[in-house]
Amino acid sequence: MQHSQSLKIYKFGGASVKDAAAITNLRSIVSKHGADGPLLIVVSAMGKTTNALEEIFQLAYAGQDYAALLLQLADFHRAVAQELLSATNEDAASATASNDPSLEQLVEQLGDRLATLTTGEFDKQYDQVVSFGELLATRIVASALGAQWLDCRPLLRTDHAWREGRVDWPTTERNLTTAVPPLLANGPVVTQGFLGGTASGHTTTLGREGSDYTAAIFAYCLGAESVTIWKDVAGLLNADPKIFEDTVRYPEISYQETIEMAYYGASVIHPKTIKPLAVRQIPLYVKSFVDPTAEGTKIHDCRHGLLVPAFIRKTNQCLISFESKDLTFISEENLEVIFGALAQVRLKINLMQNSAISFSVCTDFSAYRLDKLLTALREQFTIHYNTDLELYTIKNYDAASLQRLTTSRELLLEQRTRQTFQFVCRSNA
Ligand code: ASP
Ligand code: MG
Repeated sequence: MQHSQSLKIYKFGGASVKDAAAITNLRSIVSKHGADGPLLIVVSAMGKTTNALEEIFQLAYAGQDYAALLLQLADFHRAVAQELLSATNEDAASATASNDPSLEQLVEQLGDRLATLTTGEFDKQYDQVVSFGELLATRIVASALGAQWLDCRPLLRTDHAWREGRVDWPTTERNLTTAVPPLLANGPVVTQGFLGGTASGHTTTLGREGSDYTAAIFAYCLGAESVTIWKDVAGLLNADPKIFEDTVRYPEISYQETIEMAYYGASVIHPKTIKPLAVRQIPLYVKSFVDPTAEGTKIHDCRHGLLVPAFIRKTNQCLISFESKDLTFISEENLEVIFGALAQVRLKINLMQNSAISFSVCTDFSAYRLDKLLTALREQFTIHYNTDLELYTIKNYDAASLQRLTTSRELLLEQRTRQTFQFVCRSNA
């Protein structure tokens, strides 16, 4: 395998490319921090574009009128491109290879896709449409930087699991190591996050917020020196500042801790991102695009003492309790039936607990899945459930952090291990 030891990978999410000013800021980050070696830039759709495309797609799929929303989306991208173009010097703009699609051609392709949607295969068609957010954003960013635009879809190979494509690692690695190093030798490369492609040439997506994962896939395959995710927060924090006050930044943290936080629901980094980086020992930096010289967080293979407690909240939870109808103990046989039914309806257990005659699970709420579960198990068990709940996790808890979160809340279920305290309570909202 060919390693590009000095290769750096930057990932810019939706907020960091949300308008012309944000892209101008991105350009200054790239010129100040990314100049000393090969650089590959992974970009997400601009701002809330993916949500807008989902809406447009749903209308089109239902045979309803989406023209106004599509025009709004196209005009938004055109206006940003125009604003950047007038501020970009000619040399940079002309560095774009002429056989790549222009912004207008991409807009046209999107229009064609929407106009020719057929019914059936909702998820497959979703991917063919929603993927345009990244295609448009990278077209604009590449032009603004005078960088090469790379369509990742023929290279980043996935299976046919639409909307959560599973990566074919050997093929992807072969493709990327062949195609990307020669491009990098000519200067920075801009490519799409979130997208992949099947062997049959269809577009797939990797799951919402999947662009972080894309950066890790490129890093793993190309043996990058590091990945930097540029965010609107100062690094990896012990809680989401939109929910909790007095957040603290971790200057460094291990892969393992980060994976666990993502598992409990911290929305900092896409959960699939860490493993490929850990396997090849590639450090991940989380830095602020608002304050690019600030230190941020380094995620790598490190040992640290006890960390500041982390607070993680999952909303829209449902607590389901099963009791055996004849008041017998909850047995392994009963549990087997319950787990089987949960797997069948694809309800993922976030927390579970059993007592003599009842067994409780906390899951993400889905009316549809819950209904299927009740139908499957109602005959055998007495089932109670509460919805509109929240699941809190305190990782590396101490007395003060426990107190801070639990006072003034009525806990419906709680559980603690040596490092982690979790509880379910009613939503305050
Ligand atoms: N644009 C996609 C989304 O909004 C992927 C990403 O942002 O990482 O989910
Ligand atoms: Mg995003």
